[in-house]
Amino acid sequence: MMKNKVDVAIIGGGIIGLYTAYELHKRGVDNIAIYEKNYLGSGSTFRCGTGIRQQFGDEANIRMMKRAVEKWTGLGEEINFPKFKMAQTGYLFLLYDEDEMSRFKKNVELQNSLGVPSRIISPEEAQEIVPTLDTSEVIGASWNPTDGKANPFLAVHGLARYLRENGVEINEYTEVRDVIVKGGAVDGIKTSRGEVKAEIVLNAANAWAKIINEKLGVNFPIEPYKHQGIVSEPFKKGEIKPMVISFRHGGAYLTQKANGGIIGGIALKYGPTWDLTPTYDFLREVAKNFTRIIPALKYITIIRQWAGYYAETPDHNAVIGKVKEIDGYYISAGFSGHGFMLAPAAAEGMADLITKGSTSLPLDFYDPYRFERGELREQAVQMG
Ligand SMILES: Cc1cc2nc3c(=O)[nH]c(=O)nc-3n(C[C@H](O)[C@H](O)[C@H](O)COP(=O)(O)OP(=O)(O)OC[C@H]3O[C@@H](n4cnc5c(N)ncnc54)[C@H](O)[C@@H]3O)c2cc1C
Repeated sequence: MMKNKVDVAIIGGGIIGLYTAYELHKRGVDNIAIYEKNYLGSGSTFRCGTGIRQQFGDEANIRMMKRAVEKWTGLGEEINFPKFKMAQTGYLFLLYDEDEMSRFKKNVELQNSLGVPSRIISPEEAQEIVPTLDTSEVIGASWNPTDGKANPFLAVHGLARYLRENGVEINEYTEVRDVIVKGGAVDGIKTSRGEVKAEIVLNAANAWAKIINEKLGVNFPIEPYKHQGIVSEPFKKGEIKPMVISFRHGGAYLTQKANGGIIGGIALKYGPTWDLTPTYDFLREVAKNFTRIIPALKYITIIRQWAGYYAETPDHNAVIGKVKEIDGYYISAGFSGHGFMLAPAAAEGMADLITKGSTSLPLDFYDPYRFERGELREQAVQMG
């Protein structure tokens, strides 16, 4: 039987909903429930490219990601699920011209000043890291060895198991159809399985967040865009350890999974749209661009292609905070191409906000009301 009264109701069983429930539980909130209209991870989280990087170009995202990496590396042990491990295999941004080089040099300086050990390396060093790279036109690379990747399936299942064992109610196949508001404050939710009383509701529905907001008369600009990914049959196992990125090649990002298969995508996007049909154009552009970065990839076959949503805002940064119009209503959504990596820090910040009203993390950067004030942030790089 689903509970009919909880302290915190979380809409969305992706990485953000689950990690935020975990952080709330750690702070002693003991009557938490998650409502997921489909199955856990089925939104964007299981469709992501697995990448986790601290190489951003602004202070807030770098600080958030530094914190997120500290948390990702400790998570498996904390939740007694050692199978989950963040692989710190680095991110390698390939640079092809002086414009890119000067932009990344500036970013590296900022990253270093905040304690991230990134550095600009030569084409030869890049090739030592990934021997099959074609570096004939590469003039350098931005490299950070403490970036990396993690398996979203293990992250979701590890967190869900821990939460269930610790009394958090997880309701799959349960859609939240409305948030009940009385006298300007949250009073509960209406779900496909009945009503639940709650004084705090977190909208962690990412691409779908605005559907719930619109019913409440609040509007933050989060729109669904179709992005796609591929995996290949196994290539030389252990050859492509880092996430390799090239803006020159359609915004390509690619790395290797534990079984040797290549996972990645390019920046080609469609939308706003709810349509998730995979496209041949994407497949062709991936094949063309990946084989220019690593020519040996032309000998392997792509075995799977899929599409998922980037929940995009005008500056590609998320919307995290308290909704002023409705007491007890919070939002953590609109994560574009970096919600998986940001989850631990976004969750810590949100749990602080809910339990203490403030946080030492730079959540102001993601202020839901920045758009109506016309204060867009510097666009965050969109790729994994
Ligand atoms: C191709 C691709 C590659 C990507 N690569 C990366 C990457 O390398 N690194 C990275 O960090 N990020 C990447 N991302 C982005 C990342 O996947 C997302 O930012 C992240 O998963 C967002 O997590 P979430 O929990 O906010 O959203 P979701 O996982 O989408 O979870 C939201 C959940 O809410 C549920 N829901 C919606 N409405 C309701 C309702 N009314 N009632 C109940 N439940 C509801 C949905 O079913 C969904 O499961 C990528 C995304 C795509 C598509």
